[in-house]
Amino acid sequence: MDINQLLRKNIQSLKPYSSARDEYTGEAMVFLDANENPFNEPYNRYPDPLQKEVKEKISRLKNIAAENIFLGNGSDEPIDLLIRAFCEPGEDNIVSINPTYGMYQVAADISGVEVRKVSLTNDYELNANELLGASDTNTKLIFLCSPNNPTGNSLNKEAMLEIAASFKGLVVVDEAYIDFAPGKTLLQDLGEYPNLVILQTFSKAWGMAGIRLGMAFASVEIIGILNKIKYPYNLNILTQQKALELLDKKVTVQKWVKLLIAEREKMAQLLTDLPFVEKVYPSDANFLLVNMHDAKGIYDYLVEEGIIVRDRSKVHLCDNTLRITIGSSEENEILLNALKELI
Ligand SMILES: *Cc1c(COP(=O)(O)O)cnc(C)c1O
Repeated sequence: MDINQLLRKNIQSLKPYSSARDEYTGEAMVFLDANENPFNEPYNRYPDPLQKEVKEKISRLKNIAAENIFLGNGSDEPIDLLIRAFCEPGEDNIVSINPTYGMYQVAADISGVEVRKVSLTNDYELNANELLGASDTNTKLIFLCSPNNPTGNSLNKEAMLEIAASFKGLVVVDEAYIDFAPGKTLLQDLGEYPNLVILQTFSKAWGMAGIRLGMAFASVEIIGILNKIKYPYNLNILTQQKALELLDKKVTVQKWVKLLIAEREKMAQLLTDLPFVEKVYPSDANFLLVNMHDAKGIYDYLVEEGIIVRDRSKVHLCDNTLRITIGSSEENEILLNALKELI
């Protein structure tokens, strides 16, 4: 598979911006090459454009070589970059599951790229043949999301790999919630599928949504393309420093995850017991999709009580559902007590 053949022509021939920090990367005594201000260290300096230190730590954490890692301003950045690198506006298309995370559609719309949405089954499973059937020679990317947002379930691993094996473009698997379902990652399959891109993020289990740090894992060729078209200094110094600090707190994160999963299971049971709840869908993530009578009415009531959940009623296959994030046990109890008032 020649990844470069899939690229837009203008990206194939692009001569990327060369920054001062690209041209000279060694240790020196005096840096007078980037028009920086000599005062107010260390923030006066441009950050490392390729975030070497952060990648080394992530490499050890994930057991993936640093050269197979791209870091972005949230995982929204690699989503946008992949579409811009591979899809010719008005010509190429992407295929995605439906329902799923809204950013694939938004990023494609901004770039003027068609999205072909293929429905999941009624129990939110993936149909590999239908997805492949929706693609044509202009389909450059297939977006999958596992565990999926807003449905919460992990997609079938064999079906995802079957798609990666047959599809001639890239298969992007968004694993934003994978820390809550660690056995289900496709990370160790990267070597075998050169067209696979896996997205993960520090926004969910790691509790770092505020610093904006997302990861893409892929072949050296694909990582090289993302590096070529990103903003030269896409991750600022504060984010890189905070990430280095928090990456040492793996044990704390594992504790949070354990606690949130326990809360999720407790909440699933207690919500199921409410008379107006029809169904709580199984979840591998830190949220629950809950089908209930008059979801919109209950959403409005909760807003009045100062409790905000996500009304997903208008989403395909999600009629009358609310998506409820698992909070602290105190927050979850406040929600439950408010819902019990409705009985
Ligand atoms: C929350 C979420 C993300 C996270 O995006 P960031 O830009 O990394 O904060 C990505 N994908 C899905 C499916 C999500 O739900």
